[in-house]
Amino acid sequence: MNLSPVPTAPETDSISRFSQEPLPVVYVQGTHREMGYQIGQHRRAAIHAMLATYRRHFDNEGERLRINSWREATLHARKYLPFAEESVPQYVEELQGMAEGAGMDFNDLLVLNCMEALTEDALHRGCTSLAVAPEVTADGTLLVGHNEDWLPDDFETVYLVHARPANEPAYLAITYGGLLPNIGFNARGIAQCCDSVYPNDARIGVPRIFVSRAVLAARTLDEAIRAALNRRRAAGYNHLIVHASGEMYNVEVSAADFQVIYGDEGLLVHTNHYTARRMRAVERSSEDLIASRVRYNRTLRLLRSHAGRLDNQSIQTILADHVNFPRSTCNHVEISDNPLDRQQTIASLIMDLASNTLHVAWGTPCRASYHSYRLEA
Ligand SMILES: [Zn+2]
Repeated sequence: MNLSPVPTAPETDSISRFSQEPLPVVYVQGTHREMGYQIGQHRRAAIHAMLATYRRHFDNEGERLRINSWREATLHARKYLPFAEESVPQYVEELQGMAEGAGMDFNDLLVLNCMEALTEDALHRGCTSLAVAPEVTADGTLLVGHNEDWLPDDFETVYLVHARPANEPAYLAITYGGLLPNIGFNARGIAQCCDSVYPNDARIGVPRIFVSRAVLAARTLDEAIRAALNRRRAAGYNHLIVHASGEMYNVEVSAADFQVIYGDEGLLVHTNHYTARRMRAVERSSEDLIASRVRYNRTLRLLRSHAGRLDNQSIQTILADHVNFPRSTCNHVEISDNPLDRQQTIASLIMDLASNTLHVAWGTPCRASYHSYRLEA
């Protein structure tokens, strides 16, 4: 019997959001400051909307978020700034340009980009990432898939950036509001997906978003992995890093440790728990990550059962799987959850590095249609 993804949500869900429209794209080029300015101008409304949402969360849920006022958040975020300025000053300039373009205070954008550190990961983010090498796909095409799961509040603020930096490879990536982009691929054939993980050794340092932004600028696998391991990093993600040749890695990172896992089966999956034994020693709240383990096992099993037949269509159906609904790979809002615990798939991505194409569905992929975008280097 063929193992098939579970395509339909087992109950009516009128809350999780989706759209049949294509995601907006911002085309930028130039120096980092110029690109930031162009993003700020084009996405001004989304950036201000995101700021208003998080100000409201700090006002209403300060205790839960461990920060009691926006001013306190700003003071705390400023401690991270010197580390970013020392190691990735070009991305600080991007944010400065974005603040100017959007007509807002740089400190407000800094807070948004340090949110995971400031709240000590009180806002849990899901995400499922996968990669399949040419030897296991139907037509020898390398594919990378990612479900981006986050607060439904940010559904309206998500967009794509098509960038041609003056001194770095062109890239196509997804981001929200005023955040630096980090999930996408570049003209050198490097792709990255980021999955939240929950290390217990976080420290003041270069915030995760700045670290992962730098991976998008890598020209080789070695540069990409070293960028993810920035020695002044504040914490860590899992970085699923793939090269167009079919070389695939999960790089599981905490502030002080890391493990590099090679995709030697031609298949890689990652969700939100550490898979390397050594990294489990620094994982906190492991008991909260059971749904992550269920998604991981389910996705890997589906990929294995389709090995040799995998294509864009089968990856779409695997990303729309509903086992363990609503905390399934296609993630839906749990209605009984506190608003800050709600999450859903905000965007579902498939990257085809051979054709420099990104297919994206806006919202839960069981209902939203994929649209295609090409990186023109
Ligand atoms: Zn769904």
